[in-house]
Amino acid sequence: MSIATNLNKIKQALPDDVTLVAVSKTKPNTSILEAYEAGQRIFGENKIQEMAQKWEALPKDIQWHMIGHVQRNKVKYMSEFVSLIHGVDSFRLLKEINKQAKKHNRTISCLLQVHIADEETKFGLDESELKTITNSEEFKRLENIKIIGLMGMATFTNNKTQIRKEFKNLKDVFDVLKESLPHVSTLSMGMSGDYTVAIEEGSTMVRIGSSIFGARNY
Ligand SMILES: *Cc1c(COP(=O)(O)O)cnc(C)c1O
Repeated sequence: MSIATNLNKIKQALPDDVTLVAVSKTKPNTSILEAYEAGQRIFGENKIQEMAQKWEALPKDIQWHMIGHVQRNKVKYMSEFVSLIHGVDSFRLLKEINKQAKKHNRTISCLLQVHIADEETKFGLDESELKTITNSEEFKRLENIKIIGLMGMATFTNNKTQIRKEFKNLKDVFDVLKESLPHVSTLSMGMSGDYTVAIEEGSTMVRIGSSIFGARNY
């Protein structure tokens, strides 16, 4: 099936208040343009240099989301253009994003990544680390970043009950965060294999790659 067909099928099934991030990592610019021609404007990448190359080559009205793990020394390569950083998992990283955003006179929107999976390998903050960051005075003084919500990844498993439990947990953390930061509105959860469950549990942003572009060859 074509990229446009896949994309339209997914978009039709998404509720109006759920934003679709088309995850184009490893995919060529021709594939991204196919999705672009079909109306898609938000694309997600997980490698900063790959995203920067695509940003340079492709239409400038594309909004680029960094969905992968971010190394502090690479923030500078995306600070001019990135539209949302999903995987912020430390205060040091947040300070670096703030510093680089300031150089470009921008405010960069960020999501704090929360660890919800039953796996050691997935990055993210636990609830107490999240609180420590958002309650700190230093955080309140960062003027060139804006936390607009949370991101999380469920365990890679076929067990739907477990996945649902993890998404519910993230939604609870999100609701608590809203009490101290009332403007937060974005809950990024759900990928090709689990986005319908994520939406049932309150996701407002899904990150879908293989169901749009086909399987990835690494
Ligand atoms: C690759 C990736 C996705 C998309 O995965 P698919 O299973 O292809 O939809 C979503 N989120 C993150 C963080 C990713 O790295």
